[in-house]
Amino acid sequence: MKLVFATNNVHKLSEVRQILGDAFEVSSLSDIGCHEDIPETADTLEGNALQKARYVHEHFGCDCFADDTGLEVDALGGAPGVHTARYAAYCCGGEDHNTAANVDVLLANMKKKRNRNARFRTVIALIYKGEEYLFDGIVEGDILTERRGTDGFGYDPVFRPKGYEGSFAEMGVDAKNTISHRARATQKLVEFLKGR
Ligand code: IMP
Repeated sequence: MKLVFATNNVHKLSEVRQILGDAFEVSSLSDIGCHEDIPETADTLEGNALQKARYVHEHFGCDCFADDTGLEVDALGGAPGVHTARYAAYCCGGEDHNTAANVDVLLANMKKKRNRNARFRTVIALIYKGEEYLFDGIVEGDILTERRGTDGFGYDPVFRPKGYEGSFAEMGVDAKNTISHRARATQKLVEFLKGR
């Protein structure tokens, strides 16, 4: 089965290919010659994932899927949520997609907060034979008071999954990928596709 994953992120691509296995041929955006910046202007993760999948389906006419991920912190009313990738710029202005600044702003906003519950949530939107489907994956945890560990990316050093001693950045990528929000959402996608 041939599918396009609306991403050029090599880490996501290899993670998804590994979970999907040999029965699926997964192409990236650059594999199909899509070099545009696909708009992500919705105000929910579901909306953004659908927006990206619809863009690829409309322009390239293929079965495809897209994902969007947010970190939802209870003490911040669910923020950064849909603004996770640009949290610092959203709160304080400045450069987009600055991971160090995003984590600094999160830690500052969480200073003195006792409720540190949070979750990563990934939504995958699939367009298959013209029909739209949504899958989600959640990992619960808490926000640490300072960075711990050097593996991973994004908010990994300050997120500790429930039931674990260390942060995502201390677990190692392989262990993280077995319980991650993205892995869980991808697993649901795989179950669905294997049933087709
Ligand atoms: P995206 O929708 O996958 O691009 O994710 C949005 C933002 O969420 C990224 O820019 C990262 O900062 C953050 N993020 C997504 N997945 C993870 C993760 O597994 N660990 C840490 N941060 C993540």
